[in-house]
Amino acid sequence: MDKKLDIAIAGAGPAGLAAALYLTRAGHRVTIFERFDEPKPVGSGLILQPTGLTVLADLGLLDEMLSLGSRIERLHGTDARTGRTVLEVRYDARRGRRFGLAVHRAALFGVLYRAASREAIAIETNVEVETLETAERATLVGGNGKRLGPFDLIVDASGARSKLRRYLGDAAMPRPLAYGAFWASLGWRDDFDKSALLQRYDKASIMVGVLPIGRPEPGAQEMAAFFWSLKPADAEQVKAEGLEAWKARVISVWPQCEAFTGQIDSFEQLSLARYGHHTMALPAGRLLAVIGDAAHSTSPQLGQGANMALLDAAALSHALAKAKSVEHALDTYAKARRWHVRVFQALSLSLTPFYQSDSTMLPFMRDRMVAALARIPPGPQFLAAMVAGTVIDPFKRIGLAELQWPEAG
Ligand SMILES: Cc1cc2nc3c(=O)[nH]c(=O)nc-3n(C[C@H](O)[C@H](O)[C@H](O)COP(=O)(O)OP(=O)(O)OC[C@H]3O[C@@H](n4cnc5c(N)ncnc54)[C@H](O)[C@@H]3O)c2cc1C
Repeated sequence: MDKKLDIAIAGAGPAGLAAALYLTRAGHRVTIFERFDEPKPVGSGLILQPTGLTVLADLGLLDEMLSLGSRIERLHGTDARTGRTVLEVRYDARRGRRFGLAVHRAALFGVLYRAASREAIAIETNVEVETLETAERATLVGGNGKRLGPFDLIVDASGARSKLRRYLGDAAMPRPLAYGAFWASLGWRDDFDKSALLQRYDKASIMVGVLPIGRPEPGAQEMAAFFWSLKPADAEQVKAEGLEAWKARVISVWPQCEAFTGQIDSFEQLSLARYGHHTMALPAGRLLAVIGDAAHSTSPQLGQGANMALLDAAALSHALAKAKSVEHALDTYAKARRWHVRVFQALSLSLTPFYQSDSTMLPFMRDRMVAALARIPPGPQFLAAMVAGTVIDPFKRIGLAELQWPEAG
């Protein structure tokens, strides 16, 4: 589309910032509205998969991201009681040199935010977007009744608890999942494998994980994301029993983790993450595109959320560049992402109870089936594609080619 548009983006998370970069570079006039006084990342660490890394490469931000993150070659899970390997997924099983990049959320946010600042993208903070009104063009309405606009297009990137998607007839909030987790960002300890996400399980009710996440910003110390699965409903009880009791529980499952629990002096250092699941049937409508967690949220078990948010941003920008009108572009965007999103949301929803639930049957099956699948081709290739986010090709329909994988460094 040749016409240059006035575009408002609600939310300065990975989806909103990536969309702002793409759309500004395409010549559109973009303003981001963010509810926080200062845009800031939430949470601990996450894995950028080959999908998300391809989008960052397309944005010219891969080298900066690589310099901060920690290269992940494999995911490895062990049964806490027997010490048996019950999960082994290698990124390079499918195509040589592929890898994941584990990053501190602040690093991903910083890379995108610095790029947005360099390109002088307007970010209005302290604006909580409540709703939108449409006529010829669209107007956003803030919490204080302030009207913002009009705009030719609104991009809702306001995360899992979006208020704007009501406008497309979807008023549902994410369905809470039984289990969440305590997360902490702690100093890295070299006696752990720096090229792997390591997890220990006891059935599906206990899971503890260590992920090397590199540095939150240049020059900072290297860190680990440390997580302990639990039901949010039990968190108060765990706190009431005291920090030492909780630490002893962690160490009984994985003694080596004393290197991390030793860095925790208070429950304040742990954030309680609650997980929910929601998928919009149609993430676009008149003058509104919904991207990222606002369109689809789930548990982080498969580690796809931020990557799907980046893919959505690339898809929307590609659709606007190719289509003749905004209406056509929104239709193209929704179609381009439909199957990739649906398949990964379904995989995440069906696999999460194998790792986080009260079931004894599901982890029993997991420990036998996944371990066998990981050994017999094409099992390792399928598992690698599932973790990489490429079971369904997400690139072709959004005009991207997978990045040329850099050599190990
Ligand atoms: C513990 C945990 C671990 C995870 N691990 C992984 C992983 O390994 N890999 C992975 O890919 N994903 C992971 N995820 C998921 C990932 O964090 C999300 O999918 C990703 O952050 C979504 O980006 P987003 O920009 O769509 O939304 P968000 O990151 O939620 O950003 C939304 C932004 O919108 C702002 N906002 C909200 N409401 C309003 C409003 N009304 N008006 C204005 N601004 C508003 C918010 O302040 C925020 O800045 C994990 C999530 C959690 C909780």
